[in-house]
Formats: sequence, structure tokens, C-alpha cells
Amino acid sequence: MKKTYNEVTYNAWFKNTKPISFDPETNDIVIGVESSVSKGYWENNLGSELIQAAYAYANIELVPHFQVVQEHSEFAPLSSQNHLREKRPRRRPNPFMDGLPLNNKYTFDTFVQGEGNKLAAGAALAAADNPGSFYNPLFIFGGVGLGKTHLMQAIGHHMLARNPDAKVLYIQSETFVNDFVNSLKNQTQAAFREKYRTCDLLLVDDVQFFANKEGIQDEFFHTFETLYNNQKQIVMTSDRLPNEIPALSERLLSRFAWGLQVEITRPDLETRIAILRKKAEADGLLIDDRTLNYIASHVNTNIRELEGALVKVQAHATIEKADINIQLAHEALDDLKLNQHRSGLQISKIQEVVANYFQLSTDDLKGKKRVKYIVVPRQIAMYLARELTEISLPKIGREFGGKDHTTVMHAYDKIEQGIRSNNELKKQVSDLKTMLEHANP
Ligand code: ADP
Ligand code: MG
Repeated sequence: MKKTYNEVTYNAWFKNTKPISFDPETNDIVIGVESSVSKGYWENNLGSELIQAAYAYANIELVPHFQVVQEHSEFAPLSSQNHLREKRPRRRPNPFMDGLPLNNKYTFDTFVQGEGNKLAAGAALAAADNPGSFYNPLFIFGGVGLGKTHLMQAIGHHMLARNPDAKVLYIQSETFVNDFVNSLKNQTQAAFREKYRTCDLLLVDDVQFFANKEGIQDEFFHTFETLYNNQKQIVMTSDRLPNEIPALSERLLSRFAWGLQVEITRPDLETRIAILRKKAEADGLLIDDRTLNYIASHVNTNIRELEGALVKVQAHATIEKADINIQLAHEALDDLKLNQHRSGLQISKIQEVVANYFQLSTDDLKGKKRVKYIVVPRQIAMYLARELTEISLPKIGREFGGKDHTTVMHAYDKIEQGIRSNNELKKQVSDLKTMLEHANP
């Protein structure tokens, strides 16, 4: 395997893997791997290769089983934290503190998982458990206020909890830009490179600000290469996919795709309630379920707004010296007409906007023609009706010329899956959403 794979891959998947037992009767072999991420990777990708290699080498048909062996136990890697920690003096001044400090609240413990963020959270946990391997770089993207910074910093906290001496560097991408410009001006490029190229974990927030900046991208490319080749974990966030960042260089685009790109989308009602409940508990607020539900249903944009709403309700209660209940929440949030227009959105409006956008008629959307240039817009319109209104599936079906609710559901799934892989479709849907969010009902 060492001959077949490059060093990074070899170190990530093979180096810390050991045979545990072998039964010559049945050819069952148990192989110890480092983590559940490795286990999954072996099972899905490397197992068959192992079988073939063993067959070619010894003419036996192995039956491999993979088992996660406690990290830091028998075969903890040489570079493992314990090992380093023993050698180092306890508290050194950490030069990496000149990155931004991590927010103590942004940990995995305080992060509520739900629809919309569970993939990203899973990937972040895997990257934190197994930095510098499979999910490297990890690229988290999505709209504002949905938890990207929180998740990214949680990875940093996780690493520091295991190894307080780890060099964790969290920066806004603008900091990188400013630092670089200053280093050119003050001729301190060596120090700049030392700072960025020797950390264990680099967290770069909002990389969309690298757009159209060729020199910065160049510098970041080299930082990236150095860290990556040293198996240091890189995590980035952005409000969009790499290929939607204007004038991002080809080589960065391709590097960013080496690891994993995951999206965070808007939380559903259940998740919003769970988040509110957790925040309320943390703040020692007593709020009953119906009131939590009320607040969560009135703010469906993002989590920052949701937190804002809770603060507002809390302030209102303090001023009025009253308990928090639906009535009080209603008064407090009265001026917060964040999504009123959205729930007032009519299907006819969605049809009109979508038809216009694709230069079709609304009759086309409601009709039965099965040609692609109509079918896709029709599915998009159904998708948006489900996403942006609280209207039931059967009713949506009726408004589209009397179609069955399963047709609507199928359309929804098709578009939801489509936007993950098809950037043109994704852009169309996001354009339309923006238009509808600003449309009068
Ligand atoms: P982004 O970086 O995507 O704009 P942030 O990470 O700054 O968003 O999140 C905005 C606020 O919402 C933060 O206070 C964060 O703690 C909170 N938040 C976001 N997602 C969650 C979640 N899943 N559970 C708990 N709090 C969350
Ligand atoms: Mg952020």
C-alpha cells in the first residue's frame, strides 16, 4: 500500500492500522483501525483492495472485519498529543493567540443538531476526531447566522481540550488579507509565513472574501499546501460554494474539493425549538413549550435572529416585570415582522414569479406537459411552495392543476437533491427565493 498510495493517504489510512486476529479456517481477519471514520473508509473503499491484494499475494480469500481500537491506546501514533505533551514545558506563551480568540460558547456541547445542520455537524465532529485525514479540508458553507462559525470553532475547542498546547489558529479571512498586506509593507513575510504555516489547525472564516484577490489567493495556496502536506487540518467557511466565489483560482478550487464540502441550511421548526430551549436553559429562563413554539414559529430565517428574538422577549419580561408567556412573546415580537410576508405568500405569487423567471406561462406550470423545459420549472415552483409557505402538500397539488400530493413530494425531493449537485439549478432556486422574499404577497 505504501508503494501504491502517496504519503498523505498512506499516513491517513494505513499507518495506524493493525491486524488483530486471523482465523486460518475461515480466513476471517480482524483489523484494528483508529476511528469510526477510518472504519467507514476501509469498509467502503479499501476493503476490496485488501481482498484482492491478499489473493494476489497468498492466494487466500480474506474476509476482513474492521474494529475501532481506542485511540491513544496500544498504537497511538507517534505524533499523538500525550507524547508531545510530556516533552513540552507546561505553559509556553502561545504565539497563536494573536489569531482571534475562540468564543467559549461555540462548542459541540452547545450546538444543537437537527435538520439542516446534521451533515455539517457530523463532518465537523469527524474532522475534530481525526484531524488532517479524510475530511481535509473541511469546507462548510451556507447562509448567514446558521452556525458556520460556531461549528468551526467547536473543532478548535475540541482539539484544545485534547491538547492544550495545540496551535489552533482561528481567523477571519480579512485578517489573513490584512496580515499579508502588512507583512509586505513591513517586510515581515517570514514571520507571517511562520505564523500561518506551522499551526496544527487552521480555521479560516468566510473565505468568500478571497474573491478577486489574486495575490492573497497565491499566498493562501502555499499556506494550504504546507499545512495539507503536513497533515494539518484546515477548515473553511463561506456563504457559498467555492466555485461561486468570484475569480477563485483553479488550483484553490481543486484543493478545496479534496476534502469535504458540506452545506448548512435553514433549521426546521423542531430544531429551532430545540435551540431556543437550550438557550433558555443556559440563561436560566423559564419558558413553557407553547411559548417556545410560538417564538420559533415566528422566526424562521436564521439562528442569530432566533437568539435576537429570545433576547427581545427576555428584555420585555424584565421591563414589564412579567413572566414569559405567549401573550408577552407576542407583544415583544410584534414589531419583528421577520417572516410574516413569507407565511402570507400565495402559491399564485410563486407560480407567477417562477413562470416569469423561466419565460413560461402560469398555465404551463399548472398544466400536464412533460417536456423538460416546463417540468423542471414546475418542480421548482412546487419546491418553493413547500419551502416558503406552510401550505399542505395536497393543497399545493390542487393549486398546480389538481395534482396528487405524491407528485409534489416527488418534485420537492428532486429539486432538493438536484441543488446539491447542480449549481445552475441551485442558483435558479436561490434567485427565486430572494425574489419571493422581497415580493409583495
Ligand atoms: P454563521 O457563522 O453561519 O453566520 P454563527 O455560527 O455565528 O453563524 O451562528 C449565529 C448564532 O447562532 C451563534 O450565536 C451560534 O451560537 C448560534 N447557533 C447557530 N447554530 C446553532 C445550533 N445548531 N445550536 C445552537 N446555537 C446555534
Ligand atoms: Mg460566521
